[in-house]
Amino acid sequence: MSTVIKRPNGTEDVLPSDVHKWHTVEKIARETAENFGFSEIRFPTFENTDLFLRSVGETTDVVQKEMYTVMAKETKYTLRPEGTAGTIRAMLQNGLLNEALPQRVYYITSCFRHERPQAGRLREFHQFGVEMAGSKSPSADAEVILLGKTLLERLGLKNIELNINSIGCPTCRAKYYEALRAYFAPHKDELCETCQSRFEKNPMRILDCKSAEDQAIAKDAPVILDYLCDECRDHFEKLKGYLEKLGIEYKVNPKIVRGLDYYTKTVFEFISSEIGAQGTVCAGGRYDGLIEQLGGKPTAALGFGMGIERILLLMNKQECDFLEAKKCDIYFATMGEAALEKAMLLSRELRDFGYYAEFDLMDRGLKAQMKYANKIGAAFTVVIGDDELTNGKVKVKEMETGKETELNLDDKFSGFFDSVYVDKMMEQIEEASENLPILPSDKENV
Ligand code: ATP
Ligand code: MG
Repeated sequence: MSTVIKRPNGTEDVLPSDVHKWHTVEKIARETAENFGFSEIRFPTFENTDLFLRSVGETTDVVQKEMYTVMAKETKYTLRPEGTAGTIRAMLQNGLLNEALPQRVYYITSCFRHERPQAGRLREFHQFGVEMAGSKSPSADAEVILLGKTLLERLGLKNIELNINSIGCPTCRAKYYEALRAYFAPHKDELCETCQSRFEKNPMRILDCKSAEDQAIAKDAPVILDYLCDECRDHFEKLKGYLEKLGIEYKVNPKIVRGLDYYTKTVFEFISSEIGAQGTVCAGGRYDGLIEQLGGKPTAALGFGMGIERILLLMNKQECDFLEAKKCDIYFATMGEAALEKAMLLSRELRDFGYYAEFDLMDRGLKAQMKYANKIGAAFTVVIGDDELTNGKVKVKEMETGKETELNLDDKFSGFFDSVYVDKMMEQIEEASENLPILPSDKENV
């Protein structure tokens, strides 16, 4: 036998036994985004490399160290390291910004970054992201932060701290960069090589460096909040006021500068201290300059990206509830060819009514078939053999209670299951109404 080829470092398989967890996050994320008026957008896995150079920024870790780029014929393409650039490119190319503003979109997508793999840091990871274009009002910042907060709450997550900061606009940043250069100048030679090159071009990037030495040097660096222009300061104050009105607790953290160059004014992170060093589960902010930078008319915009793997790490850690995985409703155990054919037809009928029905595909004996039905957690089983075919009657057995109901083989099977499931649903509704409030996604199967 030849050796099995392993998956690349820093990538993950999601197995059928775990996929319901992904479905839970995806379903609740979609519903929440749609509650806030966001619609889904999909865009290519790879884009022209220039798109990321112009948006993410040439002095960022993402561009300098983490992009997967290929040369195909004469053109350089890069696997998307994040979703904002592709979204804005698609908005511009398809004229969405000429339609009613604000434009609000969300995506659930894979991202690729060549990083050192560790818990919560992968080379292929997934983001739920939202982007809103067209509003410069701080109420839009509050709306996007509330969306993130609402989603985290609906997922059942606790103890997540919201950190906010303002990194100003090009006007306030000019003065701030001078102050930063003055601060870092005496230590310039001690900075890592990447940061030495950032010193002139973009000294704020040094604050985002992951090296412990650079972080120690940056510890007492001046903070941008002290350099904000009137407009940026006013924007930040208004946002804080809205958050307070909404009862959203936050911490102003002047150290947050974010890893991508396109941010202006508001930046924020939702951080957990329960999943180790990679505790930022959601991060975003305003990027008022990006659309113009990518060739559009000046248009204010903002958004966030939520790392789904980190969310799942935390949901597992906090033992959050997941939507139930779909289980077999009815399993037909068959003896003989004629019974198998009958089971095929009955399964088709039930599936057309939305049930999950199965029968033996492995030529197993009756005992082995029942064992299998147990293993897959079938709610009901039906044995069909020669006797049943001759009499035209079968017994439907509810596995949990052992209760048996006799049905005519020629009757509509779906009618029986519909009545069973209506009873079950009524029970669930009664149970749920005792535990209000109910969210739309509560207790539904995926
Ligand atoms: P970090 O400082 O952790 O590297 P970042 O600033 O590079 O984060 P963003 O580009 O803002 O992260 O991405 C948004 C979110 O996507 C992060 O908050 C995180 O939840 C997730 N994320 C980013 N990079 C990775 C990765 N390599 N593996 C898993 N999740 C990631
Ligand atoms: Mg990063």
